[in-house]
Amino acid sequence: MRTTGLKYTIKTTQLFIGNRFVDSLSSITPRLLLNPATGKPLAEVTEGSSEDVDRAVSSAQEALQGEWGEWNGRQRRDALNLLARTLSENVEELAYLESVNAGKPLAEAHWEINESIECFKHFSGYADKIRGSSYQVDNGLHSYTVREPAGVCGLITSFNYPLLLASWKLAPALATGNTVLLKPAPQTPLTALAVARLISDRDIFPKGVVNVVTGGASVGEAISKHALVDKCSFTGSTHVGKQILAHSAATNLKRVTLELGGKNPLLVAEDANIAQAVEEVFVAAFSNAGQNCCAGTRLYLSEKIHEEFLAKLQQKLSHVLATTDLEHPDCQYGPLIDERQYTKVKGFIDRARAKYNSLESNAPQATGGYFIEPTVFYGVDDDAEIAQEEIFGPVLTVLKPFKEFEEALERANRTQFGLAAGLWSKDPKKIAMFSRRIQAGINWVNCYNISNPYMPFGGFKLSGLGKDLGKEAIDEFTRVKSVTVAE
Ligand code: NAD
Repeated sequence: MRTTGLKYTIKTTQLFIGNRFVDSLSSITPRLLLNPATGKPLAEVTEGSSEDVDRAVSSAQEALQGEWGEWNGRQRRDALNLLARTLSENVEELAYLESVNAGKPLAEAHWEINESIECFKHFSGYADKIRGSSYQVDNGLHSYTVREPAGVCGLITSFNYPLLLASWKLAPALATGNTVLLKPAPQTPLTALAVARLISDRDIFPKGVVNVVTGGASVGEAISKHALVDKCSFTGSTHVGKQILAHSAATNLKRVTLELGGKNPLLVAEDANIAQAVEEVFVAAFSNAGQNCCAGTRLYLSEKIHEEFLAKLQQKLSHVLATTDLEHPDCQYGPLIDERQYTKVKGFIDRARAKYNSLESNAPQATGGYFIEPTVFYGVDDDAEIAQEEIFGPVLTVLKPFKEFEEALERANRTQFGLAAGLWSKDPKKIAMFSRRIQAGINWVNCYNISNPYMPFGGFKLSGLGKDLGKEAIDEFTRVKSVTVAE
């Protein structure tokens, strides 16, 4: 299928196995991708099967035992730097593909691709610095540890930040000498396939080091159940994350990293800079149309600033430009990913409307794709559905205001999730109390949504196991061997 009217041709829509683009071994109907902003067809992409996963795992195993297994850290460092340079040279095309495939404003897609490039650069620096430790315990014995690659890694990602989430896993996995089978989300495979093409064109890694098998749950299941996959790093919902862990337990006990859902609290104290907090709360709740695992969706306001804050938020809501033209320089806000997500989010909104008041946007709304306007409910009870369930759409829930800061902290922790949290306050005591008591893996004070490859990223409770990014990601993708040698 050739789609007309696109700025860049979609060149690769097949599976990438052993450095070649190939059809699936099974006759599965290709997936038709629609542009979420317009609902119009974008491309037809091959979907893989469990036989294709077998092929990709064999290819990854051969690479591990072949030339790649002999590469030293400097070679891996240089390859990752070459990959980062190659992505930079193609940033316009990659950002465009991400924008039309995931329904992002082009400016946001640019940010995402640039962050992905930063991630490859960052982890290239680790590639030649992987080390173990030595121990001086008993005379006559020399004891030390060696950090080895985990092996064949299955990387399964969600649709919301397609290339960024893939790069958070690919970069540390490759820096530490693993081979990989990447399964992007079925809705958003285009940038992963474009990167595979660049890897192949520039001959960046030996054959079989990077494989991409597109498809949905059945491909993900085949990876997480595969007895020859040594490590599975997953980003997605808590529901599927639990299945991945169960698959590991039922098969080869492959190591598992889980980056899962969130219902993240935002606390604004009476001493906060309100104007700044309104701007940042807005971005926390509505960037990527709320399809962000770290989206700040439960807002706790001090009763002393409650009215003022809501009035300012209302003004902010009235100036959001959502348009089907994602390339428009002022486009701030895109659609949801697909009809399924649209219907799910609408359901949450309709049920909440029957019970709670909401702030309405007066800004003109885009029509034609899967757009839902930013929606703010206020005066909501802590145990309401919209205060407890992850919606993954543009819905901000303002809870009943708090009197004491300690009360706000205790209420913020009353959730099964523990991914991210935010606080706006100038009071060092409140900041210290927040950082000590909040039950979340990623925390921001007087800012939000700032992530860097050097900071570990991952949640507590039902939000996940293990970390992406940081030095911790090196640990996730390596295994430690201890060796004792007698003199
Ligand atoms: P999802 O769980 O439906 O799908 C994620 C991936 O898992 C996709 O590639 C999908 O094809 C695959 N999959 C589906 N069923 C599977 C199965 N049974 N076995 C193996 N793989 C399977 O999630 P989604 O809708 O793509 O993404 C939204 C979710 O991801 C939200 O809950 C969000 O919070 C979470 N998320 C978390 C982070 C994080 O870093 N913590 C980041 C982004 C998104």
